[in-house]
This record gives sequence, structure tokens and C-alpha cells, in this order.
Amino acid sequence: MAFATLGCKVNQSETEAMKDLFQERGYQVVDFGDSADVYVINTCTVTHLADRKSRQLVRRASRRSPAALIAVVGCWAQTAPAAVEELPEVDVIVGTRDRGRIVDYVEEAASGKQRVNRVQKLDAAINFEELPLDYSTRTRAYLKIQDGCDQFCTYCIIPYARGPVRSRVPERVRAAAESLVTSGYKEIVLTGIHLGLYGRDLEPGTRLLTVLRLLEDLPGLERVRLSSLDPAEVTPEILDHLASSERTCHHLHIPLQSGSDAVLKRMGRPYTAGEYLDLVRAVRDRLPRAGITTDIIVGFPGETEAEFQETLTVVREAGFSRLHVFTYSPRQGTPAAEYPNQVKPQVKEERSHRLISLGKELAMVFHASYLEQELMVLVEEEREGGKLAGYSDNYIRVRFNGPDELMNHVLPVRVLAATSDYVEGEVAKTSPPLITA
Ligand code: SF4
Repeated sequence: MAFATLGCKVNQSETEAMKDLFQERGYQVVDFGDSADVYVINTCTVTHLADRKSRQLVRRASRRSPAALIAVVGCWAQTAPAAVEELPEVDVIVGTRDRGRIVDYVEEAASGKQRVNRVQKLDAAINFEELPLDYSTRTRAYLKIQDGCDQFCTYCIIPYARGPVRSRVPERVRAAAESLVTSGYKEIVLTGIHLGLYGRDLEPGTRLLTVLRLLEDLPGLERVRLSSLDPAEVTPEILDHLASSERTCHHLHIPLQSGSDAVLKRMGRPYTAGEYLDLVRAVRDRLPRAGITTDIIVGFPGETEAEFQETLTVVREAGFSRLHVFTYSPRQGTPAAEYPNQVKPQVKEERSHRLISLGKELAMVFHASYLEQELMVLVEEEREGGKLAGYSDNYIRVRFNGPDELMNHVLPVRVLAATSDYVEGEVAKTSPPLITA
């Protein structure tokens, strides 16, 4: 059988989980490019392009193995089951619930020789679905602890695809982390669809901080990284924890989306640009070395040049260490897709280029501020340009010379040169003796 995945880290982890479920039942996994008896396509629907790619993967699988059984799973299936049903090649349709039963559904379709559609409503009664853990990555493990979102930003289809907020109970998070550490991971990245809403569906008072405290004394775990938090979720308590924590990385990915209050209002984002900059200042006060990264959408409906200028001003003032720039694409089923004054594609393109180059300029400033200083780097198990590579705790990409024995170790690297994408260095003299330069 073969798998293909579109979309986010959460989707990728869920595919790895489904792979485990099939392998436990004796299935052999092959590449998606090879012929197979069963294909599972874990879809994304964040843009129209994602839907189109999902269809293309179905057709590719069917061309490769016309007799194969094809299962379409995930966000596109959840939001548009009728569109998936229009594809005659598809035998099994499962949304963003019950992926844990995917093997049963495939075998049901195989034996019954009829299509199985198990897309279900995402009502408030559903709990967090515990799927097998993702051991597919090397060095850094992605641990999904939360699903769903109910913020309904006007451009976003995710709440319709993923449903209400649900969380993995804290004890299960600890147990999962223990298994990942036992299998050799030094860093765990806590992920979710809206991580900052973790715990809202659990015992009163349970929240992300509960989990961070629970992981603070886990033997063998060297780093905990947070995938993304919305501004309101970066609370003083979270900052206090990061400031006193031995292992929670000083890296905060806090989506801004726009620097214009008028645009933020049209997006339905619950903060102003001024409040966002106040937060950045609070983070810098509490965590001076923190890497602050963000997402920005350019070309949101009605975005004027003046509003875009506001975004450039706020981004420059925030001094981000890394910028992810997305050009707005109308998503059917979201309010913003119906908004007037949709921005022309060439204007979006031109604005995203200006923002990307500002992002590179700011990243260069951040990287250069570490020249002649040491960064603690978790060395990954693949070389980059022939050199060892890894991320610092504050999310700077670091490259340096050294033997393979250094892989999967956290060690100090002295920064010698900086670019806008990464820094180059050497193993610091202060490095523990077992590791020689
Ligand atoms: S917070 Fe907004 S952008 Fe993020 S998943 Fe929820 S609705 Fe989408």
C-alpha cells in the first residue's frame, strides 16, 4: 500500500499514524510512485490548489494501479465529501474523524466491493482521537496534542474541516512524550490545529501551561518546542515558564497576518497591531534571546497600498527572525471569499516580494547579532551542503563542520558567519569533552 499527504505537520503525523495501523495489520508500505493494492491520500483543503492537488493524486494512483483501492482521507474529504464522491476512482472516504478505523474501512470496501463513505459531522461531542505516535522524523518528534479550532477567522476553512477544539489529556501527553524520548528523540515539538486553545475542552483550568510543566522534568527530554501560538495565548504565565524552563525553547511562532488594524478587523483576528507590538516587547523583555517568527497574508480583500505599508512598518518594528509570507487565495465556504475588492494577482505577487525581502533583511540582522556568540544546536541526522546542521533553541539554522558522532546531540556552536537563511560556525571550545571538533 502507498500513502500521499498534503498540508500541515499535523496531517503528516496523521499519515504516519495510519501507516502504523496498516503495518500492524500486515500491510507492506511502498512509495506512492510504485504500483500498490491500496492508496491512502491524506488531503488538505486550505486553498483551492490543495483540493486540485488532492484530485490529481487520486488520478495518479488510479493510472498507476487501475485495480487498486483508493482511500481519500482528511480535510478535503471532511469539507467536500460530495466532490470526492464525484471521483469514480475513489472507494473509501474518511474525513478528520475516525482515521483510527481506516484499515477496517478499507477492508470493508475491499470485501463488499462497494464504496465506503464514513465522513461524519464534527459536532461538539467528539473527543481527541488518539492515533499511533509519529516516529517517522529523525532528531525532532512532532507530538499532536490538540485538534480543531473555533475562532473562524474570515479567510480560514480549517474550523469547518477540523471541527471543535479537543485535546489529548495531559497524562497521555506525558506518556506519549516518554515513548518518544525512549526511542531516542531529544526534542519534541508540540503541535495542533490551534495549539494555544489546548485544554479548553478538558478539566477546568487545564491549558498548555499544564502540559509544559508536566514535561519539565521528563528524563532524557532536552527540548520542548511550541509550534504556534496566537497573540492572546502568549500569556505572562507562558513567558514566565519559558524564562525559568530548562528545556522549553525560546522560540515563539506568533501569526500576525496583517499590520493594519482595518485588515485585521476584516480578517476577524482578535487583536490590533498595537497590541501585537506590545506583546513582542513583552516577549523581548522576558526572553531577550527569543526568536519570534510569524505568518503574514498579503493581498487580503480590500487591502490598499496604505494598509500594506502599515504591515511593512509593523513587521520592521517587530524585528522578526523569520517571516512566512502567504498570498491571500479566496477559499469558497469562507466569508472573505465573498468580500468585494479582491486584490489583483500581480499586486499580491509584488507585495509578497517586498515583504519576503524585508523578512530576509530582518533575519540577517537577527542572525548577525549572534556573531562570535554560542548557540545550543540540536544536530540533525542529515548533512546540509556537506556540513552538520540543526536548529538553535531560538530557531536559527546552524551549519558547521564535524563528525557524524555529533548527530542527535545538543551542543554549543560558536557563530562565525551569518546569512539571511542560516549561520555558519564551529563547535565551541566549551563543548562537552566527548565531542571533539
Ligand atoms: S485561528 Fe484562525 S487561521 Fe488559525 S486555524 Fe483557527 S480559524 Fe484558521
